[in-house]
Amino acid sequence: MKNIVIFGAPGSGKGTYSAKLVERYGLGHISTGDVLRGEIKNGTELGKTAKAYIDEGKLIPDSLMIDILASKLDSFAGEKGVIYDGFPRTIAQADAFKEMLAQRGMKIDAMVELVVGEDVLMERLLRRAEIEGRADDNEETIKKRFVEYHAKTQPLSEWFANEGVRQQFTWPGHMDEMLSGIYAAMDKLMA
Ligand code: ATP
Ligand code: MG
Repeated sequence: MKNIVIFGAPGSGKGTYSAKLVERYGLGHISTGDVLRGEIKNGTELGKTAKAYIDEGKLIPDSLMIDILASKLDSFAGEKGVIYDGFPRTIAQADAFKEMLAQRGMKIDAMVELVVGEDVLMERLLRRAEIEGRADDNEETIKKRFVEYHAKTQPLSEWFANEGVRQQFTWPGHMDEMLSGIYAAMDKLMA
């Protein structure tokens, strides 16, 4: 089973490209943001805790996120690959993830980083706000998410580079061009 992390700032397109990859290669998928939004919708204890952080544009504490991931991981047994969308987001999460995979005889096989300028990100998120109405897609909270991203998540890019799995793709202005670059790399990985 190939473990593929999709990495990037809020609005970089993690969910969009994940869906494309899931369809093209027949992969499993977990979006930790979607998991948390599901918990909020269902009014669970976890959802209540998560909402307080998400509304402030903050990351959920590492220990909670690591437990969530651990509880899902075994459900992917038998898949030829899994896309991790929005996890790991801190170095502590990445270290725990690496360990979790190692215990199962696996590793992180690839990290796909979506590199997109902040002006484009803001424009996309504000447009998405009108379509999807996500509570954290307002200008004030988006700015807080960018701050959190730069402080805690962006440094993790280097961590993946040190693991020898980082592949960066810079937004070329067109989705088709972005996709063809990612597909070329993924075709090799999944061959
Ligand atoms: P996009 O979906 O456009 O890439 P995003 O990365 O901000 O934007 P999600 O991945 O859906 O959106 O995450 C939404 C929120 O959920 C985050 O701002 C954070 O509060 C919380 N969250 C999701 N994944 C994690 C994680 N691995 N660690 C901590 N918090 C998380
Ligand atoms: Mg997303």
